[in-house]
Amino acid sequence: MSTVRVRFAPSPTGGLHLGGVRTILFNYLFAKQHGGKFILRIEDTDQSRYVEGAEQYIFDCLEWCGLIADESVIHGGDYGPYRQSERKDLYREYAERLVTEGKAYYAFDTTEEIETMRSTLKAAGKDSLQYDASSRSTMRNSLTLMPEETAELLSSGAPHVIRIKVEPNESVAFDDLIRGHVEMELAVVDDKVLMKADGMPTYHLAVVVDDYLMKITHAFRGEEWLPSAPVHILLWKHLFGLDKMPKWAHLPLIMKPDGNGKLSKRDGERLGFPVFALQWPDANGAMQAGFKERGFLPEAFLNMLAVLGWHDGTEQELFSLEELVEKFDIDRVHTAGAKFDFEKAKWFNAEWIKKLPADKLLPYVRAVLSKENIEAEDDDFLLKVIELVKERCTLFPDFYEQSKFFFESPTEIDTASIQPKWNAEKVKFFNAFINRLDSIANWTAEEIEKEFKEEVAQHVIKPGELLMPLRIMLVGAKYGPGVFDIAALIGKEETKNRIEHTLKALA
Ligand code: GLU
Repeated sequence: MSTVRVRFAPSPTGGLHLGGVRTILFNYLFAKQHGGKFILRIEDTDQSRYVEGAEQYIFDCLEWCGLIADESVIHGGDYGPYRQSERKDLYREYAERLVTEGKAYYAFDTTEEIETMRSTLKAAGKDSLQYDASSRSTMRNSLTLMPEETAELLSSGAPHVIRIKVEPNESVAFDDLIRGHVEMELAVVDDKVLMKADGMPTYHLAVVVDDYLMKITHAFRGEEWLPSAPVHILLWKHLFGLDKMPKWAHLPLIMKPDGNGKLSKRDGERLGFPVFALQWPDANGAMQAGFKERGFLPEAFLNMLAVLGWHDGTEQELFSLEELVEKFDIDRVHTAGAKFDFEKAKWFNAEWIKKLPADKLLPYVRAVLSKENIEAEDDDFLLKVIELVKERCTLFPDFYEQSKFFFESPTEIDTASIQPKWNAEKVKFFNAFINRLDSIANWTAEEIEKEFKEEVAQHVIKPGELLMPLRIMLVGAKYGPGVFDIAALIGKEETKNRIEHTLKALA
């Protein structure tokens, strides 16, 4: 059995949509679970759609996600170059071979001539305005011209393309790992261009030639490529033989949250959630935060993507990458589109923040705090803070709100919440409590709590009536982890100062 070789073959035309990352993930999981290779091939034959920076962006996304390619432009490999523009000279011979065998033909039509053909067909009320079996006989190509004319045009360097000759009465069939047996009629398929006038192959020719030359065994891609499959199957059949063709899997679409159509970039902008892995500028050039910048862990992002369309059949929802490698099963990927749910994505992140040990979270949290001008330099202290607040954070920026009071005294104190039930007995309690704090030698949450309880017993007030003010004194507001844990971490002097400060404010 040959080594499994899969590929992700992006065109560097923009940011990497989360559907693209899911395709990468499924490819990666499949390769790893079969001891195979994951190849990343840059499909940049359409120079008009090339976007500066998009290629680097793809590699940055892979790096952030931890899905590293085995072979690529930057990782090298035995089947390079891995950028199609650098393989330009390789494709023509395949297209020429198809022409010689009568499976493709030269077409010399100008853009205007094709436009005229379309408007004539439209005027005649035809449904199909394609360059295909019914219209090609009216056009300027090597099927309609005399062989000498074609030869002359070619030798004079006349601009031309090579088109595949699709036989409309035939059909193609293949077995899709997700969809099962797929049969497609060729009647509606046009004579796609294989080689363009600029000497570049089109995606259709290049993808087939490269999958062949790079010995790809399995080709997983989004369902949006299903309509292109007939041409690809035909090319496989004509050029290399169907027995050499990779096994296909067309992954289900990722749908809008309401299930109404494919998730688009605009949905993200409209509904306020990221659709790209990393930040990428929108149509107006304004940078749009990706999942990373919004405060997602790559672990959570991948976990969320894995279950968009795949289910292991159990109740388990949290999967590490290692577990996914073990449990992912391409045969269990659904055919139906998977609805994207941002609330669920956030749930995954909250769960992953809980699940990961504090030291894994430390660099992210430090960066979040640093952005807010809090330099949390002491690792031990920061680890303790993270341990205390991680249960309360969904996205990384939440760590600022949930932990700023460990690093600086609150600038605003919600005294308004204390005021209504404030009285002389409570003032007495807190003054006595401050004195007790002084006597604590072993400054731990347990000791502080013990002293608190002992002091409460001296007064006729319920502990709850005192805990809430104490929390507000230390945090500034009614939230945060255990109040004695906070006191233990900020230290004796700071605890006393904060209580005294609020007592003054309430006086
Ligand atoms: N270049 C195509 C893309 O941009 C690849 C599709 C395929 O995997 O065949 O997605």
